[in-house]
Amino acid sequence: MSQKQDQEKNNTPAEHGPAKYKGSSTQSVHAGEERSKPYRSLIDPIFQTSTFTFENMAEVCVFEEGKETLSPNQFDYGRFGNPTIVAAEKRLAALEHGEGAILVSSGMAAITQTLLSLLPAGGHLVMTDDSYRLTRDFCENYLQRFNITCSVIPFGNYDALEAAIRPETRLLLSEVISNPYNRVLDLKRFVEIAKNHKVKTVVDATLVTPINLRPLDHGVDLVLHSATKYLGGHNDLLAGVITGQQKFINPLREAVCMLGGVSDPNTAYLLIRGMKTLSLRVAQQNKTAQAVAEFLENQPTVEKVWYAGLKSHPDYLLAQQTLKGFGGVVSFTIKGKREETFRFLDALRLSFISASLGGLESLVLHVATQAYGDLTPEERRQLNIPENLVRLSIGIEDAEDIIADLDQAFEKI
Ligand SMILES: *Cc1c(COP(=O)(O)O)cnc(C)c1O
Repeated sequence: MSQKQDQEKNNTPAEHGPAKYKGSSTQSVHAGEERSKPYRSLIDPIFQTSTFTFENMAEVCVFEEGKETLSPNQFDYGRFGNPTIVAAEKRLAALEHGEGAILVSSGMAAITQTLLSLLPAGGHLVMTDDSYRLTRDFCENYLQRFNITCSVIPFGNYDALEAAIRPETRLLLSEVISNPYNRVLDLKRFVEIAKNHKVKTVVDATLVTPINLRPLDHGVDLVLHSATKYLGGHNDLLAGVITGQQKFINPLREAVCMLGGVSDPNTAYLLIRGMKTLSLRVAQQNKTAQAVAEFLENQPTVEKVWYAGLKSHPDYLLAQQTLKGFGGVVSFTIKGKREETFRFLDALRLSFISASLGGLESLVLHVATQAYGDLTPEERRQLNIPENLVRLSIGIEDAEDIIADLDQAFEKI
């Protein structure tokens, strides 16, 4: 066995497939953990080291040859693995019902390293619109340097998705719940189309979280997250994760170790700590977001609300059938233009104006300025990003306080 293969063996979670524990809160705290940690520590320690040592050359030779006698906890160099990172990866794999997981430096590192690894020069991919801005930029523009082309089809149009597949198509890419419009992917149709055409499926499950839906259970090949958002949950780290079956994870790990967008032990520790409350946080955020969405829909100053838990949302029925909860992001348009929207945002006293989501603190984003500010109004119109669109990421504050804050800000418009 090569050194890299051995690292993969070390990183294989103890529990494959469906996790040992049924409840998602138990899983958030315990899934994939080693019961006996160093010094019988209850908590996974932070191994703040860039490299590891060998007693002698005989040990090096054993490690390099990957003999069966090798200790399963042997590491050699930080980019190829670290015990704190492995502990985070085991939790992530177990939460997503994956065989393996790779922790990387950011959500974008998960997306770019996965696509660079899976797409050959001259290849093609099909993706849904209403996507994270930089994901689309990377697919449509950056990948052109490898003659890789990308078809962007309207979210929810499965005939267009299938029609866009060509002989050189290698994969389909979509978010499971999209941002900012909370479109919900029909995973059954998405996977069916991919299987019929023998192409891979990659989804960004950042907004849905493994608490509300596990795409691997629906036959998706690879699940990516910005762990910066709900998985970390505390707005204090940047990380990404790639999960799936070992046959997909193993070659991707080799690519990540070479491309270098790996994570670090401190981030892995914070992520493990954050994930322990994932189930509690998401349950509260689902509930509060529903209450806030219903409140917004009854506001005379609100034009339209996009939340999949509302009957007015185009994917309401699909969401009811497939999701355990509809997530913590609510998007809406204000009656008025940019000026009125700015006045509303400036008047908020609880939610912060900030470009992230999924954490404990409620955050608001003026999508046109903060995510698409470099484009002309016309270009934004083409991308369906109006000047009166607000994205609200619900934190874990009480619903009544969030609603009271919105209410007083609406009066200031
Ligand atoms: C934030 C986000 C990303 C990018 O993740 P980073 O951790 O910021 O690199 C990708 N996809 C979605 C859906 C996101 O919300």
